[in-house]
Amino acid sequence: MVLRAGLPLMDMEFIQFHPTGLYGTGVLITEGARGEGGVLTNSLGERFMSRYAPAYQDLASRDVISRAIMQEIREGRGAGGGKDHIWLKLDHLGADLINAKLPSIRDIAKTFAGVDVLTAAIPVIPSVHYTMGGIPTLTSSAALHENGSEVSGLLAIGEAACNSVHGANRLGCNSLLDLMVFGKAAGERAATAGGGSHPALDPATLDRALSHFDGLRHAKGHVPAAQLRRQMQTIMHHHAGIFREALSLENGMRALENIWQQRNAVLAVRDKTMLWNNDLIEAIELDNLLRQASATLASALYRTESRGAHWRMDYPTRDDTRWQAHTLFTLDNKGAMHLTTRPVRMIDDSAAMMPSLAPQQRQY
Ligand SMILES: Cc1cc2nc3c(=O)[nH]c(=O)nc-3n(C[C@H](O)[C@H](O)[C@H](O)COP(=O)(O)OP(=O)(O)OC[C@H]3O[C@@H](n4cnc5c(N)ncnc54)[C@H](O)[C@@H]3O)c2cc1C
Repeated sequence: MVLRAGLPLMDMEFIQFHPTGLYGTGVLITEGARGEGGVLTNSLGERFMSRYAPAYQDLASRDVISRAIMQEIREGRGAGGGKDHIWLKLDHLGADLINAKLPSIRDIAKTFAGVDVLTAAIPVIPSVHYTMGGIPTLTSSAALHENGSEVSGLLAIGEAACNSVHGANRLGCNSLLDLMVFGKAAGERAATAGGGSHPALDPATLDRALSHFDGLRHAKGHVPAAQLRRQMQTIMHHHAGIFREALSLENGMRALENIWQQRNAVLAVRDKTMLWNNDLIEAIELDNLLRQASATLASALYRTESRGAHWRMDYPTRDDTRWQAHTLFTLDNKGAMHLTTRPVRMIDDSAAMMPSLAPQQRQY
């Protein structure tokens, strides 16, 4: 919605992968499994994390472990017939600990992978988990224009928002904290509006919104939204995954643009009703997702450095001189993409009793 309104999305290149999604379904196997002593191994049975993060090993941060897993797979040490996943081993922990502390993990592995963790390892692969980017906001949760001024009457919180407390890589559990803190701030901010109402919608805006909706509802093509969504997922998987580089991102943008341009002609929405119409909902979601996917590809191409969850093989180092900055992605009224940056605002609290730590490169 904000993109259609000409407002920016910020830092959309920062997509977090969780290292241990269940191979095949992506169902999350919690970090708790490694917290209790579970270990990751490759097809040779090696605990490969000792090569990538000797001190933290299997408890290193999500992006470090996800990259390590993909590196093992790229170098031919992936598990299974397709050599395309790795193992999470819990069997050495014993039945008592597993049944007491990880019963849901045992249950999930049994239900979705047919594996009993007491005797066998779980097949896992990194899985998309969280979007650090979103609608730029102030700490009051007020949404922002590209120039940093407030958008009147629009608040954003949660995963849709980017108040940037998670930087380029959220730490586990901090999303729920963010929801509570900024949910409260948004409530307080809304209360200051004093019960006023929005100005009436002008007819041209209303027409634009309704014709967008009608265009999707009456789509007469032959390809269901699910099929186009699958193509989009494949493009994102290959071109905007854990390892990125310019040529691949450019190819991904071209392929995605192709789907975007074709969608009106080829999309099929067979159910035209207005109650529980999943066909229509999927078409609307696809429309939204395609634009957000382009925001991710374009922003990832634009940020020529590696930071947090964004890893560019052609720019493998963090560049604080150029890129201590947010990316801002907008669409103009003809649908053309624009990118710009805004400096990260550092709060000077050096006089505080416990001043913030200066930003520095994370190292293992
Ligand atoms: C598997 C998994 C495990 C996680 N574990 C943790 C954890 O342990 N700790 C932690 O801090 N974070 C965790 N996270 C992240 C955290 O759960 C999410 O970031 C958080 O729930 C986002 O909350 P939200 O309210 O912003 O969005 P959501 O929870 O996605 O809520 C958005 C809601 O809007 C509804 N909606 C969408 N479109 C419309 C529409 N058009 N009209 C009406 N309603 C609509 C949706 O149905 C949904 O209910 C986890 C995430 C995943 C995927």
